[in-house]
Amino acid sequence: MKKIALVTGASRGIGKAAALALARDGWTVHVNYIQSRAAAEAVAAQTGGMAICADVSDGQAVEAMFEKIGPVDLLVNNAGVAVYGLLTDLDPAVWQRLLDVNVTGMYNCCRCAIPPMVHEKAGHIINLASILGTNGASCEVAYSATKGAVVAFTKALAKELGPSGIRVNCVAPGVIETDMVKVLGEETLKDLAEQTPLGRLGKPEDIAAAVAYLASDKASFVTGQVLAVDGAFVL
Ligand code: NAP
Repeated sequence: MKKIALVTGASRGIGKAAALALARDGWTVHVNYIQSRAAAEAVAAQTGGMAICADVSDGQAVEAMFEKIGPVDLLVNNAGVAVYGLLTDLDPAVWQRLLDVNVTGMYNCCRCAIPPMVHEKAGHIINLASILGTNGASCEVAYSATKGAVVAFTKALAKELGPSGIRVNCVAPGVIETDMVKVLGEETLKDLAEQTPLGRLGKPEDIAAAVAYLASDKASFVTGQVLAVDGAFVL
């Protein structure tokens, strides 16, 4: 029987690429989104799962999503938001939204996914962190803080769930060509590519390959890790 996965924020960008890569590896993948219904449905049509609208920061919406899809063997906490600007210019509501989506969203999904995994004594959780979660960046203090939380959450949860046979890892992407970084503008993105030892920005497929590896049996002794996929941007 096919294994079931849920990828949050899989209507576009990294989440979409991860859902498609997992489907190629034989997973049935449910596709969560918040706004992009048509795009999510198009991805789900290729991954054999459902397209499900739920704001991951809303605990009740996440519970309703899990009632629809049932237990999952793999949860990929990918949905995320970013903001650029000085910390002192940041609206407190925006600070709160970043925490709600990037941190509480991950917690809300784990809360629903974990009990059946513990019952089965099997399962995987993969969280999308960022190189900024370990290194930080000017004008991305709030975002860096949320991704630092993702890293600590991943390590602690790996220790907690290891005895139940559940692996928990995170991927820390560098700068990846998606809508999230488009706001930086072409000049800045060109500079960032030049600062990357491999001489280019990452593609969503680069991150999807890391997710697929961590979800596979090839990574059966890998847990609690932060897998940087960044072309050596941070060393
Ligand atoms: P993206 O292109 O902006 O796509 C974001 C995805 O998340 C979309 O599918 C969006 O759905 C969904 N989403 C946003 N808020 C949501 C919410 N509250 N509930 C459910 N879904 C929500 O982002 P990306 O670049 O692919 O990033 C994916 C993940 O990788 C994020 O966690 C991000 O922080 C991380 N990351 C990205 C980069 C990068 O350079 N791109 C680097 C490091 C880490 P809709 O389409 O419906 O709006």
